[in-house]
Amino acid sequence: MEQLDLLIIGAGPAGISAADCAKQAGLNYLVLERGLIGDTIYHYPVGCPVFSTVDELELREGALHPAREKPTREELLSYYVRFCLDNDLKINTGEEATQIDRDDAHDGFRVRTPRAKYRAAAILVCTGAMAHPRRLNVKGEDLPHVHHLFVEAYPYVRHPVVVVGGGNSAAEAALFLAEEGARTTLAILRSDWENRDPKKGAIKAWVRAPLEKQIERGTLHIVLLNHVEEFGEGFVRLITDDGEQMRLEAVAAFVLIGSDPDLTMLERAGVNILPAETFLIPEYDSQTFETNIPGIYVAGHFTRARHIKEAIAVPRRIVPRIAARRTQVVTQAA
Ligand SMILES: Cc1cc2nc3c(=O)[nH]c(=O)nc-3n(C[C@H](O)[C@H](O)[C@H](O)COP(=O)(O)OP(=O)(O)OC[C@H]3O[C@@H](n4cnc5c(N)ncnc54)[C@H](O)[C@@H]3O)c2cc1C
Repeated sequence: MEQLDLLIIGAGPAGISAADCAKQAGLNYLVLERGLIGDTIYHYPVGCPVFSTVDELELREGALHPAREKPTREELLSYYVRFCLDNDLKINTGEEATQIDRDDAHDGFRVRTPRAKYRAAAILVCTGAMAHPRRLNVKGEDLPHVHHLFVEAYPYVRHPVVVVGGGNSAAEAALFLAEEGARTTLAILRSDWENRDPKKGAIKAWVRAPLEKQIERGTLHIVLLNHVEEFGEGFVRLITDDGEQMRLEAVAAFVLIGSDPDLTMLERAGVNILPAETFLIPEYDSQTFETNIPGIYVAGHFTRARHIKEAIAVPRRIVPRIAARRTQVVTQAA
């Protein structure tokens, strides 16, 4: 079995940036990606413009050229895929890492996938925070017309739909649906609707403004929510903020209330998991991003350094250190 210097798990912006840095540092590296290159971005709504500016998304300055000020899902995805291909980054797509074990005989780790086993001196886990969409855990939530991901509006034109959620993803989905002619209701907690603090996850101003226009036009309805009671065939039953029971007609419902990372593999490898503001995160050093298990590193959206800008920036700081440490070990062994 070949000994890698660095095995990177996940090919989102963090994993791609890490692969780029590992290549530049001359490391023998490999990326394992269970889905597609940029899989999280692939699952953004079709045509969705991102909120970040170009300089926050680029892997090389001046290389991303969207048609408008900010790129769409398609432009961003195409840019990252092209980057991986043009730089010939070593990424195995469709291969999920399932287990990390210590390999004391080789002073490193073994990583299993359903296809193969790999040996690596260091592991960088960049698996993101989208593994488990959050659920309301109410009756009917498993019905086929209740979705935890919004893809596109066109199947719902002229039909009644309900979006449940208070963050940007829910607001954006409601906006897309209303703009494309679905009879849309956004069911949102009063505290979320009244939240204007961008640091506390308020709906972004450039989503809120057109959303309010749709409300004025009567093409989007807001229901201030206490809680959802049930999803049924063609309806959503809920209790409003005023305590009234309400039954909304809905051919489809979208529950968009955030997601959580899957930390099982890290936990089984002995990494400590800590509670943080929004979800559990692995324990790691804030400078090196090395976890409490020496040789296992983390980067990207499931750390405190969230969003694409930081997902790209952190590997640039830590991979050269991993490379320097590797050179030291190899030199000492020689
Ligand atoms: C609709 C939407 C719009 C957004 N817009 C923006 C924006 O404008 N700007 C911004 O900064 N952020 C935005 N975000 C958030 C952004 O997508 C994340 O911050 C970013 O993707 C984090 O990158 P990452 O590499 O850490 O994780 P991800 O991009 O989530 O990548 C993780 C990768 O790991 C893979 N993976 C997971 N488990 C395994 C495993 N066991 N084995 C192998 N592979 C695995 C996944 O398939 C995935 O490809 C948006 C999110 C959503 C949902």
